[in-house]
Amino acid sequence: MTEFYQKKSLGQHFLKDKNIVKKIVRVAEVDENESVWEIGPGKGILTEELLETNCNLTCFEIDEELYPILEDRFGNKIKLIKQDVLKANWKNLVSNEKIKIVANLPYQITSPILFKIIEFSDSFSKITIMIQKEVAERIKSSPNTKQYGALSLKMQFHFDIKYEFTVRPQNFSPPPKVDSAVISLIPRKDKPNLENKSSFWQIVNVAFQNRRKMLRRNFRNLLNPEKIVLLQEKSGINLSKRAENLTENDFIQIYKSYLDLK
Ligand code: SAM
Repeated sequence: MTEFYQKKSLGQHFLKDKNIVKKIVRVAEVDENESVWEIGPGKGILTEELLETNCNLTCFEIDEELYPILEDRFGNKIKLIKQDVLKANWKNLVSNEKIKIVANLPYQITSPILFKIIEFSDSFSKITIMIQKEVAERIKSSPNTKQYGALSLKMQFHFDIKYEFTVRPQNFSPPPKVDSAVISLIPRKDKPNLENKSSFWQIVNVAFQNRRKMLRRNFRNLLNPEKIVLLQEKSGINLSKRAENLTENDFIQIYKSYLDLK
């Protein structure tokens, strides 16, 4: 067999501890015959454990040098999608049946994958992913903390999020420079129903544009000074605060008043 050289550019830090792999699959709560997507199977350490559940497994792998390894190991026990997961046609791949995602994600594309998962959040029942610990903490963070930002709000808007456990660098080959964490995401049943989602996210993005600035300053990109005064009156939110001080509910109040003023 030809030698396989790992590519850091593709985030190839392979898990080497079977116990951690088993723990990930346990957290994922995969049922028999359930559809599961694995993003980046690598050489297949997690794939093998997932197949133990007798699930219906689809794997997305970008590195063509891994295809013969995966085909030799698993044959037609998996559906291998030989493509960049970000370029795959998710619309055609999802169905009415809910899917689970279980993956040790390539860290360099964590954000675009998360945005894709958000876009298709209704298609999934649970997502169990390993990401950088620092990103996991940002996603899970609460208002009035340094880590809290637009990403936290976006993820918490769509999902109930659980920080499952930390994984140290020595559990990977080669070891990454930072700690990792497994988190699980379950689509929220009580997701706020907003008529004009793009306005809501525009407000959130503008509010966090310069997180050191007061909201009234950042909102100058959206409204004239008179309307900013009215926005404060109508919403009841003190716009001398900074975005990092606001809860989801506060942003919804601002959004509702903003629609009235626009
Ligand atoms: N699941 C294996 C494990 O836990 O040992 C490998 C995980 S490794 C962190 C990430 C995997 O994602 C690699 O196999 C890499 O080739 C693959 N990958 C990187 N970018 C990708 C992309 N855009 N689409 C699909 N797979 C990708």
